[in-house]
Amino acid sequence: WRRSMEKYSLVKVIGEGSFGRAVLVRCKSSQEKYVVKEIQLPKNQSKLENSRREAILLSRMKHPNIVAFREAFEADELLWIVMEYCSGGDLLQRIKQQKSNQFSVDNILKWFAEMCAGAKHIHDQRVLHRDLKSKNIFLTDNGTVKLGDFGSACILNSSKAYAHAYVGTPYYVAPEIWDNKPYNNKSDVWSLGCVLYELCTLRHPVLPPPHFMHSVVCCVFTLFSCVQFQASSWKSLILKVCRGAYPPLPSHLPYELQYLVKQMFKTNPKDRPSLHTILTSHRVSKLLRTHL
Ligand code: ADP
Ligand code: MG
Repeated sequence: WRRSMEKYSLVKVIGEGSFGRAVLVRCKSSQEKYVVKEIQLPKNQSKLENSRREAILLSRMKHPNIVAFREAFEADELLWIVMEYCSGGDLLQRIKQQKSNQFSVDNILKWFAEMCAGAKHIHDQRVLHRDLKSKNIFLTDNGTVKLGDFGSACILNSSKAYAHAYVGTPYYVAPEIWDNKPYNNKSDVWSLGCVLYELCTLRHPVLPPPHFMHSVVCCVFTLFSCVQFQASSWKSLILKVCRGAYPPLPSHLPYELQYLVKQMFKTNPKDRPSLHTILTSHRVSKLLRTHL
């Protein structure tokens, strides 16, 4: 293991979270930069499997729109996941940089097509991402979008997918999850719908009126994550939010895009298109394919 680690020299720490930290490293022999996600391994056996799942699932993905896995190794209660470095930062940062300057339709379609291609690859491996959001979508230096952070991912139909434990980020969580139904491939589609909405409007979809909703969502988030509180009144409130009409997209956007967002925000997951449908038979697919 020491030898594996000695292949890299530390450049800088780029992120810190509950899992541990993300560091930018350089391979001493090739001079290439990589990101290492350094995860503190728990002593408890079942939690240990959870930590390893991220490395295992990421290593199965090989797609131009998914952050490439390089290697993983562990020792001294640390798991190192070495992966491709996306120097363009995350999509949330990129959206914030725009201030109120809208992205072009071509730009939106290109990124969205890339995200869908990456997410379809994940679903084709019978894996669910479960935490798709602009902060977990990265940009390369040439402006290609890559899905990352497989820390919440799970295998489709595994008992984990049915676990009612809270996963995901409140803004992007599909109505069925608030309703205690199992996470499914269409829940990832809902989350991508939120990202598409964000690209079109530069804001989150479930925010009318913004300040009130933000505090409600944050409050529920805190309750869920800190004390596993499951008050039904909170859930019903969230459901109302999910069912409620979202503020419309800017009218200059093509009708196909407006229609797509509407389909992706269907409350019943069965009514939402799959990624396969979006990319092949949806009315927007022709627009998308020209950008892939
Ligand atoms: P978590 O959200 O669980 O803390 P992430 O995998 O999202 O972990 O990584 C944390 C942060 O590290 C990200 O928000 C991002 O800033 C940075 N990061 C992670 N992976 C990459 C990558 N492949 N390229 C560039 N930055 C990355
Ligand atoms: Mg993340």
